[in-house]
Amino acid sequence: MMSIYRQIPSVDKILSDQNLSPFLEEHGHALLVEAVRDVLREVRKTIEMGIDSPNYDQILDKIKNKLIQETIPSLKPVINASGVMLHTNLGRAPLSNDAIAAIHSVASAYSNLEYDLEKGARGKRDVHAADLLCQLTGAEAALVVNNNAGAVMLILAALANRKKVAISRSQLVEIGGGFRIPEVMRLSGAKLHEIGTTNRTHLEDYHSAIEEGASLVLLAHQSNFRILGFTSAPDLAEITQLARENEIPTVFDLGSGALLAMEDFGLEHELTVQEALLAGVDVVSFSGDKLLGGPQAGLIVGKAELIAKIRKHPFYRALRADKLCLAALNATLLAYLKGKARQQIPILAMLSKTSQELKAKAETWQKQLGAGSVVPSLSTIGGGSLPEQEVATWCLALKPKSLSRFSRRLRQCDPAIIAKTENNQLLFDPRTVLPEQEGVLLEHLNQALSEE
Ligand SMILES: *Cc1c(COP(=O)(O)O)cnc(C)c1O
Repeated sequence: MMSIYRQIPSVDKILSDQNLSPFLEEHGHALLVEAVRDVLREVRKTIEMGIDSPNYDQILDKIKNKLIQETIPSLKPVINASGVMLHTNLGRAPLSNDAIAAIHSVASAYSNLEYDLEKGARGKRDVHAADLLCQLTGAEAALVVNNNAGAVMLILAALANRKKVAISRSQLVEIGGGFRIPEVMRLSGAKLHEIGTTNRTHLEDYHSAIEEGASLVLLAHQSNFRILGFTSAPDLAEITQLARENEIPTVFDLGSGALLAMEDFGLEHELTVQEALLAGVDVVSFSGDKLLGGPQAGLIVGKAELIAKIRKHPFYRALRADKLCLAALNATLLAYLKGKARQQIPILAMLSKTSQELKAKAETWQKQLGAGSVVPSLSTIGGGSLPEQEVATWCLALKPKSLSRFSRRLRQCDPAIIAKTENNQLLFDPRTVLPEQEGVLLEHLNQALSEE
């Protein structure tokens, strides 16, 4: 028995093997030692089970593979062929080239993040997005935090701590990923004052709430669901007017926060940030990485006096946006300012693709692969953005022997490929595949099909 174990090389012997020196150089001593120990432990187990021990070279290969596997970056790009444009699990909006360049230049050097170059003194980090946000939305002031969930929490903590906040029961929404309006309200210190019913809320309900002491009106976008049938809600302008007459603020969590008219993209009209402000909302919050097409961020725009109050709250410090986010946001907003958003911001470029263009693209793919068929389907916005809003598309459809095995095989590609399953076929929607990923997508598909 002992003699078999003696076949196992010692840790020291392996560590001093010249064949491993490039790995020592690349991965460092500690990781290498750990990999050697792990592999030798596995070898010992194999022997205990009565299986032949791998030879010395095989053991070295196992160690090398382990080191390579363990040091692959865990967060990596994927090819989104699912047709879901704002897929929260896939990182929502891809950034524009300008935004990526801005991140690169700010990340690789010091920056004027909080330094006023004019005065040679301390400055504010929000200037890099605030003025642009004001220009684009018509707001008096703006603030940027880490994400929209944080923005809502901060706004309520700053404006409604221990105060009653009126909100319609139809807007007590859960966005997913644990964001529930009632919970966020409670955590912020605000007192939830529910009004109306699930399907109907009237101006009179807001009126009563204010009479019963509500000191803020909160509105939340029904981002990921829709109530149909016998429904009713007052006009936004009526609500804000009532609140103004009673000298209490209105806050609107817009969720997606479109700056452009979505009907120009073949979607239904979506209340824009500008329209919400024009309707008299005092503070509007929205995400940076949904329809805006920028980095993850929570954008807060509205009345200067209220924004100043929000800015002073200690949560602002805890939730502040980092320089990479601000760099990307600045570049994204500049594209809007220059009227180039539609061409330059990937999510808007995707939305702009016509059904004919997409059909032609899917047909090219089919020709290049010599496999599959081209079928009509629907791309969805997703990301808790516009409920059930879909746009017509054309997809390449493949019918592998086993859908689950083939999908799994595609997920193991580098970059991984995410398709969608429909009618027992795997569909690849050209709308969400980025132009620079097309070549590698086809290579992987070709390879995977040849192994079928
Ligand atoms: C998406 C969404 C949020 C959460 O925004 P994050 O930027 O993901 O934190 C909050 N409220 C509404 C209405 C949303 O649609």
